[in-house]
Amino acid sequence: MAENRPTPPDVDRVAASRAAVTARRARAGVKGQIAQGKRTALDVLSTATESPEGVEGRLRVTEFLISIPAIGVTKMHRIMEKLEISPSKRLGGLGKHQRDRLRDFLTTRTSSRRGDSSAKLVVLAGPTAVGKGTVAGYIRQHYPGVHLSVSATTRAPRPGEIDGVSYFFIDDAEFDRMVEAGALLEWATVHNAYRYGTPRGPVSEALSQGNSVLLEIDIQGARSVRRAMPEARLVFLLPPSWDELVRRLIGRDTEAPAEQARRLETAKLELAAQGEFDYRVVNHDVGEAAREVVDLMNLRTAPLLP
Ligand code: 5GP
Repeated sequence: MAENRPTPPDVDRVAASRAAVTARRARAGVKGQIAQGKRTALDVLSTATESPEGVEGRLRVTEFLISIPAIGVTKMHRIMEKLEISPSKRLGGLGKHQRDRLRDFLTTRTSSRRGDSSAKLVVLAGPTAVGKGTVAGYIRQHYPGVHLSVSATTRAPRPGEIDGVSYFFIDDAEFDRMVEAGALLEWATVHNAYRYGTPRGPVSEALSQGNSVLLEIDIQGARSVRRAMPEARLVFLLPPSWDELVRRLIGRDTEAPAEQARRLETAKLELAAQGEFDYRVVNHDVGEAAREVVDLMNLRTAPLLP
């Protein structure tokens, strides 16, 4: 009961109010750094996540947003509503999903302020065996200005695949841990078998540095990216014909017949989703298809000569 609560000695109250003033000043300092462009909002958010009780963690999301140049009170309220964050929240007190939404919002915004945001993040999807991996590999080799995201997967490496380059090959427990920690921008179970996901950190980092990023992922993943980052460009890679797709799937001989049949079934469903995509590129020729995809990033750099 209130009347039984001991009154703190004066000296404690004085110390507490001094501490509060110091903390407020420290928070004002952080806001000033953001406002002057000395620190990025993304950096402040990651510090807040690491130490929720630190200066950054104690910063209210409303004040944090307002300190970002070009965000005023009206815009701030709209953003809070869109991100479903209540005005009393502090950065360190955000739930995982709220934090993810805020981070995605800041990432998209950062890249958009550097120029043409929609040009920066391109998702390459398409039916199984259409040659997405080959086109992405060609881009990696010939267009060094493009950051190609390396996915995490629970499937085992195929001969010749390199951990950390082709994929991060991880086990189920590690994948669960990444999902739990919000470390994946999107993830999906593909072909009803293994899980695949896009690590969020490298994508955010590349985008905030103004680089173009390419995700080569399945259609469910493309849909998730569209939800998280509506400004991403979604590209659907098409085979020249259905027969050619079947030929490529059987021809690459990497799957057992039962798995091939399963993948062809998935491919039919996948082809039906092409209307949801912003662009369609037909993979007649790898170099040509790669150039078309890179053109969508508005890269000013020329490809390296073969
Ligand atoms: P594969 O096992 O043949 O390398 O890939 C199988 C499928 O998983 C391909 O359609 C590929 O695009 C998709 N995939 C690869 N990485 C990711 C990812 O990070 N997220 C999602 N959603 N799909 C992915």
